[in-house]
Amino acid sequence: MKVAIIPVTPFQQNCTLIWDEETGKGVVIDPGGDVPQILEVLEHEKIDVERILITHGHIDHVGGAAELRDALDVDVEGPHEADRMLMERVAEQAIQFGLPAAKGCEPDRWLKEGDTVDIAGMEFDVLHCPGHAPGHVVFVNQEAKFAILGDVLFNGSIGRTDLPGGDHATLLASIKNKILPLGDDVSFLCGHGDHSTIGEERRNNPFLKGL
Ligand SMILES: [Zn+2]
Ligand SMILES: [Zn+2]
Repeated sequence: MKVAIIPVTPFQQNCTLIWDEETGKGVVIDPGGDVPQILEVLEHEKIDVERILITHGHIDHVGGAAELRDALDVDVEGPHEADRMLMERVAEQAIQFGLPAAKGCEPDRWLKEGDTVDIAGMEFDVLHCPGHAPGHVVFVNQEAKFAILGDVLFNGSIGRTDLPGGDHATLLASIKNKILPLGDDVSFLCGHGDHSTIGEERRNNPFLKGL
C-alpha cells in the first residue's frame, strides 16, 4: 500500500491518495480542490483510481470532487447523508470562504456506520463520527492498524465545531466512543497537519484530557 498526500486549497487540506503498488488500483480521499495538481500526481504515479471517498462535506474536502469525478469517471462514496446540505451547498461554501468556484456533489453512495469501503484492495470499516460535521465518516482497517480520520482528530488538536452543524460535545463523544477504542497502536492520517497514532493523542492531546 502506498500513500501520497497533496495539500489542497488555502486550508492545506491533506488530499490523500492510497494505492496498491502492484495493481496500481487506488482511491482519492477528500479532493478539496486543486484538481489539476491531483491529476498530475495520479498520472505520474500511474494510479488507476477506482473511487473517490469523502469524509465530510466541508469545501476544503469536497470542493474538487465533482470536477475530479467528471475527469476520472468514477463513483463518489461518502460522506454520511447527514451532510447532504453541505454537499449541496459547495458553491455557497466556496463564496463564503473566498475560494475558486466549485460545484455541488451528489455522492453515488452515501455511507453509514457499519458499511465497508474498498481502499486499494483492502476493506475498511466506516464509522459515523459526527461533531465537526453532522455526516462525518472515518475509515478504519483494524488488521493494518490504520485509519483515515478527516477532521475528527488531529495531531495535537481536534476538529473545530463553530461551523454550521458542528457540536463540541458530540465531537468529544465520537472521539471517546468510536476513535479511542480503536487502540493505541492504530496510526492515522488526518485532514490537516501531520499523521499520528491514537495512543500518542490519548496521552498528549490537550483536547482529550478527561475523556
Ligand atoms: Zn472540515
Ligand atoms: Zn478540513
